[in-house]
Amino acid sequence: MQSSLLLVDNINVYYDAIHAIKGISLEVKRGEIVAILGANGAGKTTTLKAISGILPISSGKILFNNEPIFKYPAHKIVSLGIAQSPEGRLIFPDLTVKENLDLGAYLRSDKEQIRSDEDYVFNLFPVLKERRKQVAGTLSGGEQQMLAISRAVMARPQLLLLDEPSLGIAPILVKTIFKAIQEINQRGTTILIVEQNAYAALKIATQAYVLTTGTINMQGPASELIQNPEIQKAYLGH
Ligand code: ATP
Repeated sequence: MQSSLLLVDNINVYYDAIHAIKGISLEVKRGEIVAILGANGAGKTTTLKAISGILPISSGKILFNNEPIFKYPAHKIVSLGIAQSPEGRLIFPDLTVKENLDLGAYLRSDKEQIRSDEDYVFNLFPVLKERRKQVAGTLSGGEQQMLAISRAVMARPQLLLLDEPSLGIAPILVKTIFKAIQEINQRGTTILIVEQNAYAALKIATQAYVLTTGTINMQGPASELIQNPEIQKAYLGH
């Protein structure tokens, strides 16, 4: 049986009086791609922020490699092996592509391996190699998304958190990006992906959770959820 890498156990998150996450539990096993689906405002980003230590949880537990991480500051969680590619990309616009990638590796000291990982991301997204000296703010939306994912990969995480990688991106680039996500996973990185594009996410995921206003109302193998008439009606436009 695959071992559990991330375990989220009955967590609650509030923004002052707003109860954004209401007792969510989920599991990500080593080697999997797990998707969290849901509409705008369902609580997907909030869940990722709780895992990465950006937002505090008011109750429940989050375990990574069986270690409770929910009281750790964000930088400690990064150092344990969780990297996030945030929604809206949040690359450094005034820095070049190469400088953004170097920042992704800032906690590492294995120079040789860093260079080889840089070759790896340039291989995944050749357009970034062509533009390595260009300031990131001048990249297209799709290219910025590729850079945000690549920067997170440069941290060599055990678990990669991806927040809406398809957001605002042309359909042709969505294909490229999801193919790259699959390749990153096949290279050994476990992935938790949050998406409104349910079809793209379910096609690459092993397991999926559907979030509605702060609670999980459906979960199961992605191959089953993609066939589920309720999901098809609500999220797949059938
Ligand atoms: P989206 O894809 O639109 O980001 P989401 O599923 O990621 O949606 P969240 O951003 O996690 O949803 O928001 C969950 C709920 O928490 C929403 O009701 C939202 O209005 C609320 N919320 C999010 N951020 C804040 C904040 N900083 N202050 C107050 N409420 C917030």
